[in-house]
Amino acid sequence: MTVTAVVGAQWGDEGKGRVVDYLAQRADMVIRFQGGDNAGHTVVNELGTFRLHLVPSGIFNPRTRCIVGTGTVVNPETLLQEMNEQLAPVGVNLDNLWLSDRAHVIMPYHRLLDGLEESARGGAQIGTTRRGIGPVYADKAARHGIRLGDLTRPAYLRARLALVVERKNRELAYFGQPAMHLDELVDQAVAWGKILGPRIVDTLPMIQAAVRGGQQILLEGQLGVMRDLDWGIYPYVTSSNPVAGAACVGAGLPPTAIGEIIGVVKAYSTAVGAGPFPVELHDEDGLRLREIGQEYGATTGRPRRCGWFDGIAIRDAAWLNGFTGLAVTKLDVLDSFTELKICVGYELDAARIDRVPTTADLERVTPVYETWPGWGVSTKDARRWDDLPAAARAYLRRISELAAAPIRYVSVGPEREQLIAMSNE
Ligand code: GDP
Repeated sequence: MTVTAVVGAQWGDEGKGRVVDYLAQRADMVIRFQGGDNAGHTVVNELGTFRLHLVPSGIFNPRTRCIVGTGTVVNPETLLQEMNEQLAPVGVNLDNLWLSDRAHVIMPYHRLLDGLEESARGGAQIGTTRRGIGPVYADKAARHGIRLGDLTRPAYLRARLALVVERKNRELAYFGQPAMHLDELVDQAVAWGKILGPRIVDTLPMIQAAVRGGQQILLEGQLGVMRDLDWGIYPYVTSSNPVAGAACVGAGLPPTAIGEIIGVVKAYSTAVGAGPFPVELHDEDGLRLREIGQEYGATTGRPRRCGWFDGIAIRDAAWLNGFTGLAVTKLDVLDSFTELKICVGYELDAARIDRVPTTADLERVTPVYETWPGWGVSTKDARRWDDLPAAARAYLRRISELAAAPIRYVSVGPEREQLIAMSNE
C-alpha cells in the first residue's frame, strides 16, 4: 500500500514521531495533516534527540518530501525556531520542506487570547498549551483566519487583517489588555512571508503526482483519538481531528487513497492535561510508570498522568480509525513490573459498559481490570518477535485482540533500531 496514515490511538504522546521516523526511511513523502506546535514528536536517531512540533518527522531522510499540510495551523515563529535552532545546526536538509498555502497562521493575538481565556476558566481549565491552537481553529471556522499564502500577498493580507484586528481588540479589551496595531501585525506577517515564502506553495499538485505515481506517502497525525474534537473527551480536547478520516481532508487526498492505517499505542496509558482518565493510577505503580517511562510532556514539560492499558478506549479508537495494524510502543517500560493490568470494561451506575461514554458519564466510571503476569526481564535488546518473553507476547496479543488489529511494530526503546517490525519476521 502506498499511502499510510500513522495516528495516535490513545491520548497523544504514544510515540508517533519515532514510528514515522522509522517508516520515513522508505517514504517519498510525509504530510502532517492537523494540529500545530501544541504537541511534540520526539525523534531519536544518529543525529541526536529532536522534539519536532511542526516539521514532519520524515525530515531526517534527505529523499523525503515533507509537507506541513492544509489542515495544520502554523506559528511561523516556532516553525523558524525549529528549522534554525534544532535542524539546520546539525545539517538536516530543509530543501524538501513545504508548507501548504492554505494552512492557517497562528497570529500573536491567538496565543495571547488562548492564555487569557484559559486563565479566565479558573478551576475549570481545559489544560490547553496556550499556543493559540483553539483560537486559530475557531477563527478558521468563523472565517476570520489568515492563511500562509496570505503572507506573501501584502495588500490582500492587510485587507484581511484590517477586518480581524478590530474584532480581536474588542476581545483583548474585555480582558483589560492593550490593543494591537494593524501596521505592526502586517509588518510581522510580511516579514514571515519573506522568509518562508519560497516554501509556501499549493501542495495539491505535489500530492496528486505522488499518489498517482504510486509513491510511498505517510500521513502523520498529532495527538490521539481521545483528544479528537468530535470523539474525544470534550471539552478537554484539541480543536482539530486526529482520527484517520481527517487525514484526507487535512492532507488533500481522497479517502480511497489511504491503504494502511497504523494506530500507535503505548503499552500502558498516559494523558497530559485535564479531563476524565479512568485508568489513572495514583499509587506507586503510577509513579513507576512515570519515572521509568520518563512521562513528561515534550512541549510543556508537564508530568503526564499514567495508568494501565485501557482496552475500552482502544476499541473505540479502532472503530473510529479502522486500523489495519498497530505499533505498540514503550513495551520496555513494563519490564520490571511483576503484575500488569488491562482495563476491559467500565462500570457506570453498577452496570458494565464496553465503550467510552460521553464526558459527563466518563467522569463517573470505574475501570474493570484483568490481571496479566509480568515478564521480569529486559526487552530492550529484543529485535524479533521471538526474542520477546512469552508473557510479553501474551500481553501484546491481548492488546491486539482488544483493538481487533494485528501488531505490526513493537518498540522496546527510543532508539531507531529498538523497533521490532513484524513484516520482517
Ligand atoms: P509522540 O508525540 O506520539 O511522538 O510521542 P512523544 O514524542 O511525546 O513521546 C514519546 C516518548 O517516548 C519520547 O520521549 C520517545 O523518545 C519515547 N519513546 C518512544 N518509543 C519508546 C520505547 O519504545 N521505549 C522507551 N523507553 N521510550 C520510547
